[in-house]
Amino acid sequence: MQSLIDRGLSRPRYRLRLPGDLEARYHAETAPESGRFVQSWLAVFILFNILSLKADFDAFGAERVIVPVALTLGVFVPVALAAILSLRGRPSPLRMTLAALVTALVDMAVVLNSARLAPAGHVDTYLILATLIPLVVGLIAPLPFRHSLWFCGLSFALYVAGVAGLGLARPTSNGVPLLVASLTLVPIKLSYSREWEAKLRFLIGLRARAQAEELALANRRLTALSQTDALTGVANRRLFVERLAAAWAEACLHRTSVAVILIDIDHFKRLNDTAGHAEGDRCLTRAAALLREVAEAAGGLAARYGGEEFALLLPRASHGEGFAVAEAARRAIAAAEIPHAGLPDGGPMTVSAGVAAACGAAVVREGGTGQLLKAADVALYAAKRNGRNRVESASLGDLAVLPAA
Ligand code: GH3
Ligand code: MG
Ligand code: MG
Repeated sequence: MQSLIDRGLSRPRYRLRLPGDLEARYHAETAPESGRFVQSWLAVFILFNILSLKADFDAFGAERVIVPVALTLGVFVPVALAAILSLRGRPSPLRMTLAALVTALVDMAVVLNSARLAPAGHVDTYLILATLIPLVVGLIAPLPFRHSLWFCGLSFALYVAGVAGLGLARPTSNGVPLLVASLTLVPIKLSYSREWEAKLRFLIGLRARAQAEELALANRRLTALSQTDALTGVANRRLFVERLAAAWAEACLHRTSVAVILIDIDHFKRLNDTAGHAEGDRCLTRAAALLREVAEAAGGLAARYGGEEFALLLPRASHGEGFAVAEAARRAIAAAEIPHAGLPDGGPMTVSAGVAAACGAAVVREGGTGQLLKAADVALYAAKRNGRNRVESASLGDLAVLPAA
């Protein structure tokens, strides 16, 4: 996409068309706005024609004004209204050009007809008015350059044919109407510059959006990297600490609870020493994946806390719920029967876990997250001391080790 935009931006001045699908995107993005713009100007155009009936009245007099009035109200206004309606939604450039063209040509025909019927002194006024119509529409409507060529060419042709066919070209004419008619070159030039500028703005906007998206993506990647443990793919300690602080704050605010579980692989050093560091890494990764499953099933977060130690955070969990999740984690690791070469009979690998939770008012009363982690660590230490492959819990208040509930 970026290279396509760059190609568009560096294309030669004579090439209006955008490369690839950018041309279609440009039209799709600008169509609704352009459609509304043309619609509003067609409405102004209708109003102008209705107001100009006063000039018709002055030129034709009360008895003969009926023809321009009937043609304006009976033909031009319905055609212009239909053109406005045809531009609802997401009009294509072709629909926009057709709406402008049909409205302008019908109006021009009505005015040329008035030139044919008007008293001699008013003919040139109507002839000039007839040529001003496509000129003004061509200047205002944001038609694509190619369409502008058609629009101005056809308008000019109809004008010349009308003037010649209706016998309005008189040798006594001062030539001003034809001079004004030749000004149709102005909207052609303008439409080229306008399309070029609009496409330039579109490309610059697109490039800014693409760059912003790329930056956001890179930021998301960096954030993920800064929160993920490179070996195991679970959250790292930084994210765990952040989430714990948030869960703690929430528990303080709503007087709810929060539980943490520290999990440590049993005799992991022996595994490393016997099977090698690489095998140790593989076992760590498997254990991490299992712990993540258990934590996420309980609506919590599993993180690598350091070395072969993991931490599970369970926002809004009570002490009992925390203990149940720790038991589930311990059982999940044991059930996976991960070989542990450092143990007699080759395993399976087991973990010990320490649980601590703070509930209700205790969250506010008892220190901060450090105390909670300390309590979980005390419990983990007790689990190790009491034989490993087990879960212990500690209360937050006195940090005393409690037996399993
Ligand atoms: P205990 O049951 O008391 O926890 O015994 P342990 O051997 O697991 O405890 P200790 O803390 O003595 O050993 C932890 C070992 O974990 C030591 C270190 O080599 C190993 N370790 C730490 N990080 C990694 C790692 O990223 N990869 C591997 N393979 N080993 C690691
Ligand atoms: Mg260990
Ligand atoms: Mg350890």
